[in-house]
Amino acid sequence: MKLNRRNFLHATAGVGALSLIPAAVGREPQVSDEILERAAARPVLPVKEFKQPIIIESVELLRKGKQHFVRVRSKDGAEGISVDDGRMDILHPIFNELIAPYFIGKDARDLEEHLFEAYRYKSNYKLIGLALWCPIALVEFAILDLMGRMRRQSLGELLGGVVRTTIPFYVASERRDTTPEQEVDYLKSLIDQTGAKAVKYRLGGRMSRNQDAMPGRTEKLIPLTRKALGDKMVIHADANSSYDPPEAIRIGRILEDIKAIHYEEPCPFDNFDATKKVADALSIPIALGEQESSEWRFQWVIRNRVADIVQPDLYYYGGMIRSIRVARMAEARDMATTVHLSGGFGFVYSLHFASCTPKIGPWQEYKKGIETYGKWFDPPLKIVDGALAIPKGPGVGLADPKELLKDATIISA
Ligand SMILES: [Mg+2]
Repeated sequence: MKLNRRNFLHATAGVGALSLIPAAVGREPQVSDEILERAAARPVLPVKEFKQPIIIESVELLRKGKQHFVRVRSKDGAEGISVDDGRMDILHPIFNELIAPYFIGKDARDLEEHLFEAYRYKSNYKLIGLALWCPIALVEFAILDLMGRMRRQSLGELLGGVVRTTIPFYVASERRDTTPEQEVDYLKSLIDQTGAKAVKYRLGGRMSRNQDAMPGRTEKLIPLTRKALGDKMVIHADANSSYDPPEAIRIGRILEDIKAIHYEEPCPFDNFDATKKVADALSIPIALGEQESSEWRFQWVIRNRVADIVQPDLYYYGGMIRSIRVARMAEARDMATTVHLSGGFGFVYSLHFASCTPKIGPWQEYKKGIETYGKWFDPPLKIVDGALAIPKGPGVGLADPKELLKDATIISA
């Protein structure tokens, strides 16, 4: 039987953990733009729960050591904060000159509309990409924290309700400087540290026009990971836009041979034609979306099934609300959303996203960060058996935001 994406699920069901394959379903039925637009347009925030206006008085960027934060305060004294993923080192002028001023004096209850209006403000849309959306995401996260703290609700409760409290993850290696043997040893060390039941490793050379990171690394690495990590390990692989379609298909077949379940960015991320050719030729689910900044393009990817798993990045794509809209469109096409994780504090927002998004993939991404950020919560966040529990407490769940920002400096330019 020749496998296509419809019968791949059936053929691999029962192969241990592989029966949890997230998105390997058929290409039909098609979904109309109208259905997708309706899914995206449904309100995310329960604004009726907030009877009084929440007028934003200040939006500040702060820095403590190497870490940036954003603090939003309302006229009534409510406060929320967010934590940067490392981009504000270079994006602070955009934040201070083009994003923060838009939000001053606005009613936080209209946040969903503000996401669009901040994009229009001063022709900000010309900056579309993470330079624009990371600063907006930080304001959005801080406003959501503020609203969550007002209602004593976690972000997931605020954004539609918590549907799961424990989030299993795949641990991502982030390396290409390793030989296949070194990479396997490194993956084993990550598995030992976290108890992860799933991994992700890198293929190819990153945006490399078919060049490998070192000659023959990818072809050797893929079968070696299955052999060394065992049949039950759930394998994800990321090409970071390395290949043209023929090479992507050739490598994808090696991944299929070892029953990997997730093949990320096989071709240049913005070449939908190339990515779709690969998706059409292979049975392994294709993942795409970490560089995406446009709702219309996500809609196109979903409607035309360019990929099987969509991956907005909660920072790069402008926050939780916009990413939930993508997840709702994907769900209407029976596709899973597994958000991309840039690193740092991002895994905390990923946990909240996964807590309230019905159709996520079975494993969310985790890189590192628990050592630094886990203790900011009470009880501290802790990895148990390859999974993380969502933070307890209102908003993002930080135990003591005031203490966290003590001695931080306001960055005003
Ligand atoms: Mg990636």
